[in-house]
Amino acid sequence: MPETTAPYLRVRNLEAWYDESYVLQGVDFDVAEGEVVTLLGRNGAGKTTTLKAIMGLMPRASGSITFSGRDILGHPPHRIARAGIGYCPEERGIFGSLTVTENLVLPPAVAAETISLARIYEMFPNLAERRDSAGNKLSGGEQQMLAIGRILRTGARILLLDEPTEGLAPVIVQQIGRVIADMKKAGLTIVLVEQNFHFAAHVADRHYVVERGRVVDMIPGAELTAQEAKLRDYLGV
Ligand code: ATP
Repeated sequence: MPETTAPYLRVRNLEAWYDESYVLQGVDFDVAEGEVVTLLGRNGAGKTTTLKAIMGLMPRASGSITFSGRDILGHPPHRIARAGIGYCPEERGIFGSLTVTENLVLPPAVAAETISLARIYEMFPNLAERRDSAGNKLSGGEQQMLAIGRILRTGARILLLDEPTEGLAPVIVQQIGRVIADMKKAGLTIVLVEQNFHFAAHVADRHYVVERGRVVDMIPGAELTAQEAKLRDYLGV
């Protein structure tokens, strides 16, 4: 990343606690506008907690997080969402008793420029077919698409996606990869937490390795093949 442009999302010395448990121990990373980066690491390394801290969901966090030049650490989650950061948690959080369309139109817009329902259905043809089905009748893949589509519609400019491929069939994982590529083409910025190394390798520009509550390495996408052995060692795979 050129030193002259300020990063879009900048995380410095981020520390966070669950009660007395010191989980994030000084996380540092940058994301440029339009980039797709992953946070890779073993179970319990602190990837989900990092996303939660960015969203203002950790009761105790310190350090610095700036988005688009503005400090956001310490702000309540609704203000962080309104600043244009969309969060898609691992459990997806869609409403089971509401239809696909209802799920999509429910979250309030966070930007003057939102994405129309028609455009969302163009991007996710499977969802268009299931538009009148209840959320709890969807397959895991459809639920994941809905969770992403719902955040996109609000006009969020950066998406934090927590393990979007978890538990999904390979063909659905491929579809999610295409959706991420489309979003990148549309100029969106994405921070992706992943366990699926092969999936991550295909979609991301850069990879940050998280270990015991810290970012311990950064591997550019172009160097991934050359550094695969090292990465496998980090991930224990
Ligand atoms: P995973 O893929 O397993 O979710 P992760 O890298 O996302 O891994 P985190 O979920 O951020 O890891 O967890 C980091 C540490 O914090 C782990 O040691 C975990 O046990 C602990 N932890 C996570 N959530 C809580 C919680 N609600 N209360 C207490 N400790 C927690």
